[in-house]
Amino acid sequence: MRVRIIGGGLAGCEAALQLAKRNIYTDLYEMRPSTTTGAHTTDKLAEFVCSNSLGSYDITNASGMLKHEMEALGSELMPVIFQSKVPAGGALAIDRNIFSQTVTEKITSNPYINLIRQEITTLDTSVPTIIASGPLTSDKLAESVKKFLGQNYLFFFDAVAPIIEKESVNFDKAFYLNRYNKGLADYINCPMNKEEYLNFYNILINAPRIELKSFEKNAKFFESCLPIEIIASRGEDTLRFGPLKPIGLVDPRTNINNYAVVQLRQDDKKADLYNLVGFQTNLKWDSQKELIHSVPGLENANIVRYGVMHRNTFINSPKVLANTLQSRISPNIFFAGQITGTEGYTESVASGLLAGINMARYINNEKLLELPQETMLGALTSYISFPDHSNFQPVNSNWGIVSELDVDKKMKKNKKLKNQLLSERAINALRSYLNMI
Ligand SMILES: Cc1cc2nc3c(=O)[nH]c(=O)nc-3n(C[C@H](O)[C@H](O)[C@H](O)COP(=O)(O)OP(=O)(O)OC[C@H]3O[C@@H](n4cnc5c(N)ncnc54)[C@H](O)[C@@H]3O)c2cc1C
Repeated sequence: MRVRIIGGGLAGCEAALQLAKRNIYTDLYEMRPSTTTGAHTTDKLAEFVCSNSLGSYDITNASGMLKHEMEALGSELMPVIFQSKVPAGGALAIDRNIFSQTVTEKITSNPYINLIRQEITTLDTSVPTIIASGPLTSDKLAESVKKFLGQNYLFFFDAVAPIIEKESVNFDKAFYLNRYNKGLADYINCPMNKEEYLNFYNILINAPRIELKSFEKNAKFFESCLPIEIIASRGEDTLRFGPLKPIGLVDPRTNINNYAVVQLRQDDKKADLYNLVGFQTNLKWDSQKELIHSVPGLENANIVRYGVMHRNTFINSPKVLANTLQSRISPNIFFAGQITGTEGYTESVASGLLAGINMARYINNEKLLELPQETMLGALTSYISFPDHSNFQPVNSNWGIVSELDVDKKMKKNKKLKNQLLSERAINALRSYLNMI
C-alpha cells in the first residue's frame, strides 16, 4: 500500500518522513517549480515563505511547549531546525536555505519516499491521501477538494516582510542588542527619535497598497501577524507599543531612550541577510523602499526581497475534520498543515507529524492517536475539529485553548506559575498517553 501526500511543504515533508520511519511507502507530490504559489521563491521542499522565526523554545511558552511535544512524538524536522539555527535571542530562528536544502536531501535520499514534481489537480479518494497543500493550494486542487468536502473555503490574508543586506546598514546609527540585553546581541536595532518616527508613520499611512481583488475585500487578517500598515491605521502610537516598541533597547553608545526602534533579525547562517521584524506588508514596492529608507540606519538599505500579501485558504475544519486529522467524509483522506486552520510554521510541522503518524496507524489498522486536551497539539486539533464554532478562525498555539487548570484563583493570576504548571501538566499527559497506547 502506498500513501499519497499532496504538498512538499512543512507539513507534507514531516508526514512523509513519519510514514517512512514506519516502513510505509509514499508518493510525495510537489507542484513547484513548474507551477508555483506566488509566495514561494525556490524549488526546495519545506520552504519558509516569510519570517525565519519559529517563535519560542521555552517550555513554559505555548509555542515552545508545542516544540517539546513534537520532540517527544519523534518529529523528523525538529533536528533539522536545530541544525539550521541562527542566533535570534530567545526565539528559534533558522537559515531558511540550509533548512529547506537539508529537508530536500532527507526526502530525496529516503528509499520509502518517491518525490514527484507534479501538480495534483483532482482528489482521488480511493488512495490513502494526506492533503498538505498549504494556504496557497493550487486552484484546480482547491476546487476538487471543495467538491469532496461539500463546503466552501474560508480565507484570510497573510503578508511577507522584506529582507535586506546587512552590508548596506549604516552602523553609525544602528546598533546590535537583544531586548533587555538578554543573551548575545543578535538583533540589529535602528533607533528613531519622535520626529523620525512621525516622518516614518506619515509615509506609512499615506503609502499606496497593492489592490485586492473585489471578492477579497472583506477578508480578515490574522490578528497576531497583521501587516504593518494595518497596525499603523489603528493609531499613531500603535506601532510603538507593538513591533517598534523601544523598551529594553537603549543604544549603549548614547544611553538615549529612543522613541521607537526597528529591529532586524538574522536570516541566514552567514549573517549577510536580515529581515525586518513585524514589517509584513502589502504596500507597493516603491513605497516599501521609501519607507525602509526613511528608517535611520537603513537610508541605503539594499532590499533583496520585498513584502507581499497572499490569500490564505483553509478548510472549514469544524465541519469536516476529526481531531485525528482524518476527514469525517472518507477515512482515506487526512489533512495537515495550514490548510486545516492551524496557523504558523511550528503548527504546520506539528500537524504533519500527527497526520503522518495517524495515517500509518490507519494503514496498519491501529487506533488513531487522539492527543490529550492538556497537550498543546491535542488542544489545537480539538479546537479546529470542534463542531460548534460559530465563527471559525485560524488558531496558533496558545495556553487559552488547553483544558482548564484545576488550581485556585490566586494561583491562576500568577501567569508565570500558571504557565509552568500548564507545561508540566502537558508533558506529563503526553508521556502517560504515549505509555498507554
Ligand atoms: C504569505 C504568507 C506568509 C506567512 N508568514 C508566516 C510567518 O512569518 N510565520 C509563520 O509561522 N507562518 C507564516 N505563514 C503561515 C504558514 O506557517 C506557512 O504558510 C507554512 O509554510 C504552512 O505549511 P504547510 O505545509 O501547510 O504549507 P506550505 O509550506 O505552503 O506547503 C504546501 C506545498 O504544497 C504545494 N502545493 C500546493 N498545491 C499543490 C498541488 N495541487 N499539487 C502539488 N503540490 C501543491 C505548494 O507548492 C507547497 O510547497 C505564512 C503564510 C503565507 C501564505
